[in-house]
Amino acid sequence: MVLAQLGGSISRAIQQMSNATIIDEKVLNECLNEITRALLQSDVQFKLVRDMQTNIKKIVNLDDLAAGHNKRKIIQQAIFNELCKMLDPGKPAFTPKKGKTSVVMFVGLQGSGKTTTCTKYAYYHQKKGWKPALVCADTFRAGAFDQLKQNATKAKIPFYGSYMESDPVKIAVEGVERFKKENCDLIIVDTSGRHKQEAALFEEMRQVSEATKPDLVIFVMDSSIGQAAFDQAQAFKQSVAVGAVIVTKMDGHAKGGGALSAVAATKSPVIFIGTGEHMDEFEVFDVKPFVSRLLG
Ligand code: GDP
Repeated sequence: MVLAQLGGSISRAIQQMSNATIIDEKVLNECLNEITRALLQSDVQFKLVRDMQTNIKKIVNLDDLAAGHNKRKIIQQAIFNELCKMLDPGKPAFTPKKGKTSVVMFVGLQGSGKTTTCTKYAYYHQKKGWKPALVCADTFRAGAFDQLKQNATKAKIPFYGSYMESDPVKIAVEGVERFKKENCDLIIVDTSGRHKQEAALFEEMRQVSEATKPDLVIFVMDSSIGQAAFDQAQAFKQSVAVGAVIVTKMDGHAKGGGALSAVAATKSPVIFIGTGEHMDEFEVFDVKPFVSRLLG
């Protein structure tokens, strides 16, 4: 179920409940079951959906609601709050400060949109007057450096990488050191993704992180990976201190569910979403407007 449909289904379920003359246990259950179905079809992890349903039932105790209370409003608010809670881990991500050097390391599987997102993130800040720089620490995929170089050149962002060196840790450290000397305030380290989750990849991420001591590690996830989102995000979180999530490919047929799973698995907020292949197809992610849109 794509994002727009998810929003439609949820608001329809709430509308149907609102149309009922009396809102009792049965009507509430029907509404929650509809929402559950919609979330599952959107690839939200089963456990998350089940917890949400339990929480709403706890909050909205129909017997305790005195007559005259607007039950519809209370239920709607509870659903809104629960969806927000699923997307908000409770603590904000580290925010780099302009003019002060920050190292931001990007991790994620190959094809997730990591290299594209590194450039988008750099470009976004450059437009706001920052001095970003890109380091290509992906020595695994042939062509990775060329891709980053091409993107960086297009955006006029300084970059560092090597065609010869095969040690990603060495390149990452050299790049970070160079750009620190050049007073860049946002040093972005792009890493390898390989093609599947494998021990060697996670060990490499651990080493690059240990050597470059990033202020923030961003996990990049393709929104179309479905139910795999939770395990994938968790696997990265177990290797490096993921502190934020960027969900890509939210354009087209994106499902929103993976985002909720990634937040739950990493206990980190989504900070941006990718909405296209171009450099400026990149948006700040804000929980409340996102959920408001879902609820229609
Ligand atoms: P990496 O292997 O993780 O570094 O992934 P790339 O950055 O090479 O991206 C893989 C493909 O996804 C490329 O064709 C990108 O243009 C595309 N891509 C990345 N982000 C987005 C996005 O937000 N929307 C769309 N439609 N395509 C994207």
